[in-house]
Amino acid sequence: MRDPDCIFCKILDGQIPAVKVYQDESCLAFMDIGPLAEGHVLLIPADHVATVDELTGEQAGAMLRHLPDLVRAVSEATGCEGVNVLQNNGPVAHQVVMHVHFHIIPRNADDAFGFNWPAGSYPAGRAEELARAIREHLGGA
Ligand code: AMP
Ligand code: ZN
Repeated sequence: MRDPDCIFCKILDGQIPAVKVYQDESCLAFMDIGPLAEGHVLLIPADHVATVDELTGEQAGAMLRHLPDLVRAVSEATGCEGVNVLQNNGPVAHQVVMHVHFHIIPRNADDAFGFNWPAGSYPAGRAEELARAIREHLGGA
């Protein structure tokens, strides 16, 4: 299942080049063309699916089962001190390419990458209220 207008589907189809790291019937991992750090890798499903919430559990599982190996390999190959696994889901969350992908980004203490992480807090009862709503939407999963 491919989208002819999607740049990552074109990579999957071999229409545009990419520097590949791993590929099987369910997924592809390749070097990000605009790395936030040396060794920045993207992991994508072989099917065109726009966002993580549109993946089936099977699609997610088949792709993400390779995540530990990829993080280990990127870490060992680059000698980085840590890794951010990042998934931008939807344009408001900075998703530019609408074919779901997981960033594997090597991190070092003195690197240039950073987050705005505006941690807040809940008033009494609000976390429980939200958790109840989330559980209801999980449908007992
Ligand atoms: P996002 O903002 O999460 O949608 O990230 C999209 C990522 O795709 C960026 O890090 C881009 O550098 C990367 N990217 C876009 N086009 C290509 C390409 N042809 N080959 C490799 N990476 C790409
Ligand atoms: Zn696609």
